Amino acid sequence: MKAAIFFERDGVLNLCETRHGHQVVPLRLEQFKVNPVASVLLHQLKLAGFVLIATTHQPAVARGDLSRNELDLMHMILRRKLPLDDIMLCPHDDASHPCQKPQPGMFLEAAFKWSLDLDRSYIISDKWQDAKAGQVAGCTTVMIRSPWIGDDHHDFVVDDLETAVAKIGLLQNNLYGREVAMA
Ligand SMILES: [Zn+2]
Repeated sequence: MKAAIFFERDGVLNLCETRHGHQVVPLRLEQFKVNPVASVLLHQLKLAGFVLIATTHQPAVARGDLSRNELDLMHMILRRKLPLDDIMLCPHDDASHPCQKPQPGMFLEAAFKWSLDLDRSYIISDKWQDAKAGQVAGCTTVMIRSPWIGDDHHDFVVDDLETAVAKIGLLQNNLYGREVAMA
């Protein structure tokens, strides 16, 4: 079984402005800006053998503010610029939906689809919903400091995507060291 890195899309893989304390998510293609540091970092993780999966909740689709076509174009760009294996999408505007984070449905579905070991997988996000879902799914959560990480469970808090990836590298090395020590 493989290990994955799950990335929250908005604010991690693509840049988002903050307005009135809220993250402004892109509704049109020209507003969609891929995080310029993401490409190099994701290629490093890919070389380390991880399955790379973006996860995203886009309730604006259900509300009719974001066309599915526009969203598909954004994701085409994301896949072209970053070595992602998959993009998991919840387009629903209904908190009871099992694929809507903080419910772990998206991660469980990905685990089934990609034969993943969630215990060895990581989530990188700037939102508490991922920390909560990750706790239930059994992933290690690396949170990028933001006004939205909350006070509940998370495993690590870092300043940015670079540090998040470095942290995972460090944890992997420690894990490896332990395995060698036990052998
Ligand atoms: Zn959904």
